[in-house]
Amino acid sequence: MDNLKLWHKFLETIKPTVGAAPFRTFFAQTMLQSIERNKIIISTPHAFAKETLNQKHLPLIEQTFTDLLGQKVQVEVVVKKLEGPPAKEEDFFQPIQTAVTTLNPKYTLENFVVGPSNNVAFAAAQAVVQNPGTSYNPLFLYGGTGVGKTHLMLGIGNALLSKKGHMKIIYCSSEKFMNDYVTAIQEHKMGDFRKRYRMTDILLIDDVQFFSGREGFQEEFFHTFNELQTKNSQMIITSDRPPNEIAKIEDRLRSRFQGGLMIDIQPPDFDTRVAILRAKCLEQGNALPEESLKLIASSLNSNIRELEGKLIQIIQALKTKSLPPDPENVAGFLSNFSNKPLPKDPKQVLSVVCSYFDITLKELTGPGRQKGVVMPRHVAMFILSEELNLTVEKIGQILGGRDHTTIMHGRDKMKKLINTDREIQRILIEVKQKMIE
Ligand code: ADP
Ligand code: MG
Repeated sequence: MDNLKLWHKFLETIKPTVGAAPFRTFFAQTMLQSIERNKIIISTPHAFAKETLNQKHLPLIEQTFTDLLGQKVQVEVVVKKLEGPPAKEEDFFQPIQTAVTTLNPKYTLENFVVGPSNNVAFAAAQAVVQNPGTSYNPLFLYGGTGVGKTHLMLGIGNALLSKKGHMKIIYCSSEKFMNDYVTAIQEHKMGDFRKRYRMTDILLIDDVQFFSGREGFQEEFFHTFNELQTKNSQMIITSDRPPNEIAKIEDRLRSRFQGGLMIDIQPPDFDTRVAILRAKCLEQGNALPEESLKLIASSLNSNIRELEGKLIQIIQALKTKSLPPDPENVAGFLSNFSNKPLPKDPKQVLSVVCSYFDITLKELTGPGRQKGVVMPRHVAMFILSEELNLTVEKIGQILGGRDHTTIMHGRDKMKKLINTDREIQRILIEVKQKMIE
């Protein structure tokens, strides 16, 4: 049997055991590189596929070869680029279903409150809107949770869209990028994936710290980055830490991140916090006396998302009790809400969520899809992601081995609801409150 025949026989044999979807994802572009005595080398163009093949499928691969050849073999998987056009060219040119990008119009530069903690970042944002692609490319914004990175990034996007409506713009988290990449491979639509990400005029990539340790994806993103930079397409990148503190990221990508303008956004000072609270009240048609706003602003000092949560909670509580929003009443509520930071223990999140919703841990992490457990699960996903900053993969593990796409979906759903649904806002606040009691 020559190598090619052997290879086809191998793929045919292994496919039913591996299953159709994983087969497509991990074996579709593999090649038999060489056979020397009992040593077989197979290649894949994707580092992530190499990882999975080694970790999950190696024993099966070796056994299948052993059976076919009638002798014990050892298999090594290597990463090797495909040479020339891919075997099945049509696979690469099927149109991929892509949603038209819509940016949340809620976040603009106009409603971004500027203070000493973010004025440098804001000035850079304005410069980018003036001259996209030329002045600062990439603009790399970093800072802690809830300091306004995503808001500022979307503000730039919205400003560019209103300036030049026909611009192609993509906003996505680094997780979505990785997810789209996997889907493109599974569906043989890499060509479309690349077209989509490399032909855009503006690319907004949120939370690139999640690229950490994901080599294959870093490589794809590196090429996307280079192509966009060559074409002067503006990139804006956010991260919860500066490039030199992102672990397990390739040096060449790190140096790309550092090559534009890096700016940190600091936690807002007291006056800025008051100004932000004032602006949020106005947006929602609520008026609180200045003294009340100051009281709330002094109760929390870093995460603006939490500050907003607290504002909503207080307004809600005042309304429920039909109390006027004067400082005494606000102070009364504030003293009930403690300021301790949330504990960073995932187990505790799960146990609080379970006791709050009166369900068992088994139900929370199990496969059940009844409303009574799905919603608590989403709450857990959201808190684990937003408060404990765990990756979606990690959260998937914690919640009974769920796929990371499921986690993304649940978390994003909560993110939307938290802006619109008072009941959800209340639940989240109460659950977090219980965590610090
Ligand atoms: P990050 O991406 O840094 O975690 P976000 O951009 O999601 O934070 O901001 C969290 C919340 O705080 C959002 O509702 C956002 O509108 C609000 N926010 C943050 N900074 C500002 C600001 N300077 N002015 C107005 N709102 C802000
Ligand atoms: Mg963000």
